[in-house]
Amino acid sequence: MPLSANNPDRKSWLHVDKNSDFPIQNIPFGVFLTRDDIITIGTRIGDTAIDLGALHQLGYFEGIPLTDDIFLQDTLNDFIADGRKTWRLVRNRIAEIFDAENKKLKGSPKHKEVVLFRLDEIEMQLPVQIGDYTDFYSSIEHATNVGTMFRDPDNALLPNWLHIPVGYHGRSSSVIPSGIPVHRPQGQTLPAGETQPVFGPSKLIDFELEMAFITTDANDLGEPIPIEEAEEYIFGLVLFNDWSARDIQKWEYVPLGPFLAKSFASSISPWIVTLDALEPYRVESPKPLKKQLDYLQQKGKKSFDINLEVSIQPEKAKETIVSRSNFKYMYWSMAQQLTHHTINGCPINSGDMMGSGTISGPTPDSYGSMLELSWRGEKPVKLKDGSERKFINDYDTVIMRGHCEKDGTRIGFGEVKSQLLPIFNPKKKDKAH
Ligand code: CA
Repeated sequence: MPLSANNPDRKSWLHVDKNSDFPIQNIPFGVFLTRDDIITIGTRIGDTAIDLGALHQLGYFEGIPLTDDIFLQDTLNDFIADGRKTWRLVRNRIAEIFDAENKKLKGSPKHKEVVLFRLDEIEMQLPVQIGDYTDFYSSIEHATNVGTMFRDPDNALLPNWLHIPVGYHGRSSSVIPSGIPVHRPQGQTLPAGETQPVFGPSKLIDFELEMAFITTDANDLGEPIPIEEAEEYIFGLVLFNDWSARDIQKWEYVPLGPFLAKSFASSISPWIVTLDALEPYRVESPKPLKKQLDYLQQKGKKSFDINLEVSIQPEKAKETIVSRSNFKYMYWSMAQQLTHHTINGCPINSGDMMGSGTISGPTPDSYGSMLELSWRGEKPVKLKDGSERKFINDYDTVIMRGHCEKDGTRIGFGEVKSQLLPIFNPKKKDKAH
């Protein structure tokens, strides 16, 4: 089916700023609460949010096989489960409805009144009910940096790393949308030089610059997904800040991997940008350094050119960009991750989320975590207000942004922005400043 929604020449009758992440070629999907306190599935063009439930009720999706209530839901799971053919039909139709030449909705003030919202009239929600969340570790620069710091610079990568998209099962219950503040967690750590652990607030709170992809129903128990089919089951991507407590992580991760250091919060951007919308920005992945087993061999351009950046904004100060990276640095592709995940027959469901792992680039200003940017705290990062950071301070806000740009068309993700609050105090119930 042609991806007519991607036509770079199409203009919308809705206003779109030149540098907007959301031109008519994007058409992401999200869930929002409207000014009337109704929850609905929607999309966004420029700074206008579009109620797809209302559009459907008004008959704008006529001819596309959709159940009546497909958009009148508080998650995208059922829509995603309808599969790629439906996503494409709906995205193509939305592009037609908002095409500058199409007067049907444009010329109907009554319809526009119930379909269109300003961004300040809505509240974005978590877009999917995430059943399972898996996190990979697929940036060779990140894995090399961490291996160099904590093990052996000469053998920074563990022997399996070039053969397996290494991953672990995370917690979906603490995945939250942009804007929700996060409390500094408490836990067990082993202070340097000590033999007995102590309990208290983590002192080393970090972000991890990641992207995550959302899947549709893919396979039954026992059935692996062949690599050439894997992308059919990927609905789209979000920006992902996988908050981490490095001191808790260091003490707890042997031998089974990350646990409470990761499960206290993971923040995502609220608009899911479809894999289809990213198609024009496909690029080569890094060349394999070792021959990969047959089931992981993928032909063609496996990655996407997505510019990523991270800012830290101290309380009452301007933000400072501390890292610029790119999704194309990923050594293992999303298709390889999904194929590997199902090679043992593990079922993947609609609304599952898979994190890329921290996306670090080759240069020190492109590292995707404070652990690497400050090199374990040895090289503090300077901020515009004159202060320095080794890790994240209470009341700092971490902002991640991402966009693709080519031939004058820009597709972006908006941002994932969340503030770190002090440890949870049941008597005080801290509010975000
Ligand atoms: Ca992670």
